Amino acid sequence: MKYWRVPLDTGTLEIPHGDVHIIVEQCKGCGFCEEYCPRDVLQMSPAFNRRGYHYPGVVNNECVNCGLCEAICPEFAIFCLESVPSDAAAVGTIAGEAAS
Ligand code: SF4
Ligand code: SF4
Repeated sequence: MKYWRVPLDTGTLEIPHGDVHIIVEQCKGCGFCEEYCPRDVLQMSPAFNRRGYHYPGVVNNECVNCGLCEAICPEFAIFCLESVPSDAAAVGTIAGEAAS
């Protein structure tokens, strides 16, 4: 995404990341998610699902967990979850092990 001017605190901002999940068999191939994703994360697959529709696939890891694809999908076939940073996951694991 290009900014027309760069905010002064850009260096201190933490950009969120998301993991996109697609329920392939629920998709009707409208392409809204691909068209409107601000980070071009999604691209329609040339393959078909069992209902005969093309469905989106994830083509990069630029997702910022904005939730637009989830909100715009008319079939509730896509959703996004916030990515847990690997070091936070490790801390959680260590804390879990200490508690047990
Ligand atoms: S959550 Fe936002 S950035 Fe991520 S895939 Fe969906 S529309 Fe794109
Ligand atoms: S918006 Fe939903 S139904 Fe449309 S292509 Fe994307 S996942 Fe499929």
